[in-house]
Amino acid sequence: MYIRKKGLKIVLIAFLMGYLVIGFVIIPRWNDKVLLSTGGVTTRKAAREFVNDLKRSEKEKFKSELLSNKHLSKLNLYIENKKIDFNGKVFNYNNRYYIPLDDITKYLKINMDKEDSNLTLSGEGYQCDINLEKSYWRIKGNRRELRGDWISREDKVYLSLADIVDILNLNASFDSKKEEVRCFKSKKESFILNDTQGTLTKKKTALIRIEDVTAGSIYLKDDSMEKLRAMGDLLYDEGSAYHIAWIPRYVNPEKSEDNDLTRDTSFLNSEFLYTLDYLINRGAMVGLHGYTHQYGNEESIIGSEFQEKNKLSREEEVRRVEAAIKNAIALNIPYKFFETPHYRSSARFQTVLENYFDYVYEPCIGVWNKKIHISDRNKATKYVPAPLGYVEDRNVQDMINKIKDDKSKELKSFFYHPGKEFDDIVLKREGNGYPYYEYKDTSMLKTMIKELNKDGYKLRYITN
Ligand SMILES: [Zn+2]
Repeated sequence: MYIRKKGLKIVLIAFLMGYLVIGFVIIPRWNDKVLLSTGGVTTRKAAREFVNDLKRSEKEKFKSELLSNKHLSKLNLYIENKKIDFNGKVFNYNNRYYIPLDDITKYLKINMDKEDSNLTLSGEGYQCDINLEKSYWRIKGNRRELRGDWISREDKVYLSLADIVDILNLNASFDSKKEEVRCFKSKKESFILNDTQGTLTKKKTALIRIEDVTAGSIYLKDDSMEKLRAMGDLLYDEGSAYHIAWIPRYVNPEKSEDNDLTRDTSFLNSEFLYTLDYLINRGAMVGLHGYTHQYGNEESIIGSEFQEKNKLSREEEVRRVEAAIKNAIALNIPYKFFETPHYRSSARFQTVLENYFDYVYEPCIGVWNKKIHISDRNKATKYVPAPLGYVEDRNVQDMINKIKDDKSKELKSFFYHPGKEFDDIVLKREGNGYPYYEYKDTSMLKTMIKELNKDGYKLRYITN
């Protein structure tokens, strides 16, 4: 009897152990594998179709809606301090101002010839070709995509303000209180003639990401946006590639702020989009830094939307990722990567990202790569880490030392919060209002670029 009881006990214990092993170790692993291999609720092919369909429908919407009365807008635009009369024909679509090109060229005494879908602008020492069919403009062999596309009506061609300013080499400043834009003929030669981003003369690569740029918080001010544009000038003039981690929708529940550029039209939002266009034309590679970078009652930039503690469902995660993409496509912002806010990601969430993005600008969960890592799951998505972190306080020397540490095999990749640069850029106006700025040589960004150049590094794109 005693022996039989002992035998039964052993069988029961063995059974219990087996149950525990299967229940807590094997099934979850198997489950994880199944989840990871299906890559979430969608596939890469489905994600590509989602993006292509969106691009098509947004373009159709743009062409059919742009010149409708609901987008009529007031814009006080001055050139050399003379107010341009557009006869009420200014439109604002998704926070881009559209104005008739010939109203400006006439004023600047620039000749415009039109043949089929080609425009040729010419003036004293100036010539620019605009190819409407292919949606680009070109000066002396250097070309740029029309950031805001174009539309024509009653023989007038409408282009976005950012395109007009860059095509005609104007220098613009914004005053949101008076809702006016003042343009002057630039005293510098056109930026497009100084296109050195693509040159690969130096051997060593470094990567910089300008972090947390959004239409809210400290950024949605005339001064801040003008300073961001000055940073773009600096990086571009130095031939440095750079990335911008953009948060598409800014939310601050405490201040009842919820700013979505595809929904909320305003002068400041238009200046923000103008600034993004300006930076993209000057070499910025933009990526999606979450959708709102917050959750619940949190404030954008400070909060974190995809962390495990929020317990988002797979559908909710996909919805937010797709909302961010939709925002970028509706605004015609070419996005090249995704970066999860505060890197608070999970292997599960990263498999969702892999369907939509070729570049995820963060370490791969579980691999914790310090160099670029190609996903083991889809063999396509590249995880680009920033192992050098961010520039803390004003400690730029610390970052320079980390970059110069030749023994380290880590990718020389870091990020920088642009607000830290603002005190070192002083905005000025000449007597007639012509805008310019003084950029202090001791600024952290200038110092970093100088030291990197000295050491044979070149700031490149994650896609190089
Ligand atoms: Zn962030």
